[in-house]
Amino acid sequence: MYSLSPADLELQATARAFADELIGFEVTAEEHDGRLPDPVAKQHHERAVELGLYATNMPESVGGRGCTALQQVLVQEQAGRVTNALGWCMHTPPAWWPEVANDVQRERWLLPTVRGEMQECYAITEEGAGSDVSAIRATARRDGDDYVLDGEKWHVTSYNEAAYAFFQAVLTDGPQAGSQALFVVDLPSPGVRVVRTPAYSHTIAHEHPIVAFEGVRVPASHLVGGEADGMTFVYEWFRFERLMVAARCLGAAERLVEAATRFAQERVVQGAPLIERQLVAAMLADSATELFAARAMTYETARSIDDGLDRKLLHGRCSMVKLYASEMANRVADRAVQVFGGRGYMRENVAERFSRELRVERIWEGASEIQQLIIADQLGKRGLAALV
Ligand SMILES: Cc1cc2nc3c(=O)[nH]c(=O)nc-3n(C[C@H](O)[C@H](O)[C@H](O)COP(=O)(O)OP(=O)(O)OC[C@H]3O[C@@H](n4cnc5c(N)ncnc54)[C@H](O)[C@@H]3O)c2cc1C
Repeated sequence: MYSLSPADLELQATARAFADELIGFEVTAEEHDGRLPDPVAKQHHERAVELGLYATNMPESVGGRGCTALQQVLVQEQAGRVTNALGWCMHTPPAWWPEVANDVQRERWLLPTVRGEMQECYAITEEGAGSDVSAIRATARRDGDDYVLDGEKWHVTSYNEAAYAFFQAVLTDGPQAGSQALFVVDLPSPGVRVVRTPAYSHTIAHEHPIVAFEGVRVPASHLVGGEADGMTFVYEWFRFERLMVAARCLGAAERLVEAATRFAQERVVQGAPLIERQLVAAMLADSATELFAARAMTYETARSIDDGLDRKLLHGRCSMVKLYASEMANRVADRAVQVFGGRGYMRENVAERFSRELRVERIWEGASEIQQLIIADQLGKRGLAALV
């Protein structure tokens, strides 16, 4: 099915077996604010690296696995089967970096990141700038050989795990004044402080604090690409990560359909298994059907990346798969809770955890409404045939 090559199938099987191992730790994580003992978390990380499931998106020239887009989807799909973000140990560093990293960035951060020795975080969103990245207020001022960075960033995922942050800011002066630029900032650095660490719906070890950058001085070598390139990387990141969000949603939906089906076969109500009750059967049937549709779209989009489809066309397609797969997975999770009944509301149940965890997939990397705007814009500009 899906015409996967022997190499694709092998990688998929490795990722699936590893995801199954991680699943065994979910309830412990849930009971401990998402955290596993340090040696256990370290072992998962090391195993992901050893199995070749880490940095699958990175080219071999920087030590990455050099997987095709479809293979990256297959791995992230398995990562998505695991709750409590335990699958995040199959991490993908920023795919656009190898092409533009200067020597300092390559040696100091990129290569160790690809080896799995350090991790990054992204400080882009602000209190007044989320969907509309062009509204950010953080600034970068050139001062001799340095830049001085100021701004407050929200929802900085994995800040507590990261060795450095990508910080997006508007240039205050110079020929590119008013453009957005991206910088690498070591963590910790003088002038960087956590304002507060809010609690979120999901139970995961990665925090999303609000972080203040106050007069943070970085050498010019910390500028990624050119001064006006900031938004280019944001778009590159969105295209990649929207596809990976879709992939993880497929994995989550698969696990939920399997778990709910098994339960419906075993649970006997008024003398018959639940699966024989047509109202329950319809929920399972709709979930399986929508999963099939989402998977076909996602694999097809990954294949069109591997075939070198024009980036502009990919932008709309990645929005379509992100929109459809994230909405689909949330519908599937909601139905799974319903099929499980009271058990589905218990935190020890996979449907309960996914019903909280999947909600953000409709928000981050561009909320569903933003994807709809992008798709409609592409439809108007390029016509239906270019999109579907
Ligand atoms: C758990 C979590 C982790 C995150 N991690 C990171 C991170 O690591 N780094 C980072 O930089 N950011 C991160 N984010 C931020 C995330 O990308 C933003 O929350 C998201 O882009 C939405 O922005 P916002 O929250 O400001 O919502 P807003 O932009 O205020 O939007 C609110 C609502 O209005 C809708 N809306 C907005 N504009 C329009 C429009 N033009 N037309 C119609 N509807 C519209 C949106 O779809 C949404 O439903 C994270 C967020 C969360 C919740």
